[in-house]
Amino acid sequence: MTKVLTIGEVLVEIVATKKGNGFREAVPLIGPFPSGAPAIFIDQVGKLGVSSAIISRVGDDDFGHVNLDRLRADGVDISGIEVDPQGTTGSAFVRYREDGSRAFVFNIRHSACGTISLTFENRKTIETCTHLHVMGTALYAPSVVETVMVALDSVKARGGTVSFDPNLRPEIMNSPGMREALSTVLTRTDLFLPSGEELFLFTTAKEERAAIDELLETGIEAIVVKRGAAGARYYDADQSLTHPGFAVEELDPTGAGDSFGAAFVSFWLNGSPPAEALTYAAAAGARAVTKIGPMEGTSNRAELDALIEGAGPIAI
Ligand code: ADP
Repeated sequence: MTKVLTIGEVLVEIVATKKGNGFREAVPLIGPFPSGAPAIFIDQVGKLGVSSAIISRVGDDDFGHVNLDRLRADGVDISGIEVDPQGTTGSAFVRYREDGSRAFVFNIRHSACGTISLTFENRKTIETCTHLHVMGTALYAPSVVETVMVALDSVKARGGTVSFDPNLRPEIMNSPGMREALSTVLTRTDLFLPSGEELFLFTTAKEERAAIDELLETGIEAIVVKRGAAGARYYDADQSLTHPGFAVEELDPTGAGDSFGAAFVSFWLNGSPPAEALTYAAAAGARAVTKIGPMEGTSNRAELDALIEGAGPIAI
């Protein structure tokens, strides 16, 4: 049976309840919410009943246990999350600006998940998995990059598959070795899941179709471009499909791409046709934005079916 693995940050998110430009003034906060792009991704995979695991590290504190409890409840194998009694669980403070962009204060690199490394236990977890999902945000420290690279080699050597969501934040783009690591991951990727402009990060082409062709020529099997409220596009060597997105009320966009990617990967790995995987992914992304808190909007199969059926036929 396919088992999906991801590696990287598990943290809590604390959200400002009033819009504004950052945290240089006192502002009412809400949280902690379980978070971290890899954690949101794997929670959504688990909720869909697909075998799933994550390698990470948290402190033995409430922020860590909030995440462990949620992931365990949603069916994720959390044996790869080391609880470090000396460490502190990472955190991210988020405040929405009036224009919809987000200001972040991150505490990741110096938190427990900044010290994820290639332990004996992590090697064992890697060997139980046959699909690796890499998130760009997770390449924030050299020891995490090393763990991801070993997992890439191991999964590929055993005939497994790799999906990659660049998921880039300007705040972490300058981490040591980040750009090189992203390029290496791309060369091993079967399913590429960029958001908007991330499509052009690794291409000379600046127009979508040309960029897609350039990437498909490198051996990537399928590409899904996420386009926020405008939906998503799917491409492979034979076809392209566009989903216009589901109409929902957006309360908090954080986590949409992670939930979308998780649903797409889950259906793709189970052999669903691309149109079906794209529909479920768009439903997962849409439901994700309807809840405040990045992991609060992950969905089970029945919830996705209800949104899809309620929306009626959508031409894709
Ligand atoms: P990311 O979080 O990686 O930037 P997006 O914001 O593009 O990703 O969201 C991922 C997917 O979630 C989109 O492709 C779309 O299908 C869905 N989605 C995101 N925002 C909305 C929204 N406001 N309404 C409906 N669907 C949305």
